[in-house]
Parts: sequence; C-alpha cells; structure tokens
Amino acid sequence: MANVTLRNVRKTYPGGFEAIKGVNVDVGDGQFCVLVGPSGCGKSTLLRMVAGLETVTGGEIDIGGRIVNQIEPADRDIAMVFQNYALYPHMSVFNNMAYGLRNRGMKEAEVKTRVDEAARVLELTSMLERKPRQLSGGQRQRVAMGRAIVRQPKVFLFDEPLSNLDAKLRIAMRVEIRKLQRRLNTTSVYVTHDQLEAMTLADILVVMNGGQVEQVGNPLAIYEKPATTFVASFIGAPPMNLMSIRADEIKSQLGSTDAGILGIRPEDFVITDQTPAGGVALPLTVEAIERVGAETFVYGTRAQDEQRIAANPGELPPGEVIVRIPGSEAPPIGEKIRVAAMRQKLHLFSGDGRTRIE
Ligand code: ATP
Repeated sequence: MANVTLRNVRKTYPGGFEAIKGVNVDVGDGQFCVLVGPSGCGKSTLLRMVAGLETVTGGEIDIGGRIVNQIEPADRDIAMVFQNYALYPHMSVFNNMAYGLRNRGMKEAEVKTRVDEAARVLELTSMLERKPRQLSGGQRQRVAMGRAIVRQPKVFLFDEPLSNLDAKLRIAMRVEIRKLQRRLNTTSVYVTHDQLEAMTLADILVVMNGGQVEQVGNPLAIYEKPATTFVASFIGAPPMNLMSIRADEIKSQLGSTDAGILGIRPEDFVITDQTPAGGVALPLTVEAIERVGAETFVYGTRAQDEQRIAANPGELPPGEVIVRIPGSEAPPIGEKIRVAAMRQKLHLFSGDGRTRIE
C-alpha cells in the first residue's frame, strides 16, 4: 500500500516566511491527488517536502505507512517529473531513461526490459536513439515520464509537468497522464495552477491558498459546493458571480438571517422574464459579448437604480455579472435583459467569504 498522508505539515523558510501553515491531506493507495492554487500558495513547497527536496518544519509526512521526514529523497521510493523535464541533453532517450536504474546498480538486462516496456507504453520505441534536442516538447515530456515509470516507484510526484507545452498538447498530454496513471495504478501527487487540469485529473482535489488548504475533496463535489468564496471563484471558468447581499434580502430569498455573499455560476443563469420560486432574478444591461463557438459569454451590468444586490468589492467590478449561455445567439450590446437562477443553483457564504451557509 502506498498512501501519502500529510499530518499538520508546516514549513517556515530560513528568514521566517511561513509558506505552509498546517496542512492535512490523505491520498489513498492508487489515487491521483492534485494540489491547485494561485502562484505562491505553497503547492510546490508542499510537493518538494513530500519528495524530500525541502526540509519539514513541523508535522509528519507518511508514505506507505512510514514517516519519511528524515529519509533521503533517494530512499523514499518516489519518482518526480519536473516542469523543465530535467533531461540530460548529451544522452540518448534510452540512456536518459536508463540512467537512474544503472545508478542503482541494476543489471543491464533488467534495465533494457524496463526501458523497452516504458518506451512501448509511451510510444517512444522508435525514438530511443535520439537526443532530447531532436524531440518535440511533448515527446520530451514523455521521456521525463518514462524516467519516472522505469523506477516503478510507490509514488509519482508531478511539478507542473505540462506548463511548457502549447494549449493543444497540454490537453493531449493531460489525457495521456490520466490514462497512464489508471493503468499503472500508482499513487500520484500533481501540482498545477490550472484549475481545468486539476478538475480533469484529480481523484482528490486540494485547493490551496496562502499556505493553507481551503478545501479537499472530489473535484465535482468541490465545484458543486465550494466551501469558501475563494474556492468558488478559483474553480470554474468564467468564475462564479459573487455579490454581497443584505440580511433582509437573504431572509426573503433563502430564509437565513445573516448578511452574506451570494454566488451564482455563469452557467446557472438563464435569460428569462420569469422568476423561479425561491430563486433570484437580475435586470442587466448587456455590455459585451464573447462568442467561443459552442457557447457565449454575456457580460452585463446591473443599472444603479435596479441594483438590489450590491456587488462584492474585490470579487467582481461593481455591478458586473457574467452569464454563460449555450450556442451563439446572444442579445445585442446595450439591450436590457433579465436573467434568473433557480433556488438550488444559489450558493450562500458568510460576509467574510470563509464559510459556506448553503
Ligand atoms: P508557483 O505556482 O508560482 O510556483 P507555488 O504555489 O508553487 O507557486 P511555492 O513555490 O511553494 O508556491 O512558494 C510558496 C511561498 O514560499 C511563496 O511566497 C514563495 O515566495 C516562498 N518561498 C519559496 N521558496 C522559498 C525560499 N527558498 N525561501 C523563502 N521563501 C520561499
């Protein structure tokens, strides 16, 4: 069994900066865990601590039932794939993949068996004699993966492995990585700042902010019930509309008594003159339209006198609402429209955004 468990893990860098402030995560055997969050939230620091490349200030890192805080990276039975691939430029693809195995004194026959098998899985067999500079970015990325696979580690660690690839290749490699991980069934921890990559890869999604975990769970469950306004605006694109609402408004709409923040995802609005029972309706003036093919984003503002719900400062520009509608039919710019969302599509948070009310 190769679970990865983080118990109250903390990191203070020399100089006193507290980068990780007590993180608890439990990744089960064979699961794919994605750490996601904005730049500087501490996800690389956390991954590097699991790898043993960074010392742990407090708490425990447990890999397969063994606390590894004091164990050297080479003895942790992990393999890491880096953003820059870290390939040896003067070595062939075969030798790049074989390097770590030979270093451990593995017999050449076994080295060849493992490299050939990894090359077959990664469709690199015809490229084994090439040097890294004779490969495309995606192929280099696969060699980097191959180097991790041949080790047959308990755990794969990925540090933004796709961020040097163009958009199309990123998607293709994202699917490849997921297929490969399902097939090998190796516990994985993967760092990205890309929420879409995180949503599509993760069995367990860990959303981080400021050195802390904002929410952990199944990606769809997090999308459907974000625990904080930070998670609500980070997961999903375009982001959830967030609006401050007064106590009396919440009371009439949601039966609660506290002032708070109302969240509605762009895709949960429909353009209609009806107001669904218990739902909300907003009059909007259309300011901009973005057609992206299968769907259209409508950017609207609530006119001052119609603005029953004041915008939440810092989340969206005052009065701006994004509505996502299927197809390419859209109202003209300048038109006054009315949009509505059903009761079950409303998210309600405390006024500070730190707690989900319903
Ligand atoms: P990014 O997506 O930009 O790589 P990240 O979430 O991976 O960001 P980290 O690289 O883990 O973030 O950094 C977390 C915080 O710790 C940042 O504020 C960073 O400036 C700080 N930090 C990182 N390395 C060091 C270091 N060696 N000494 C001091 N502070 C550091």
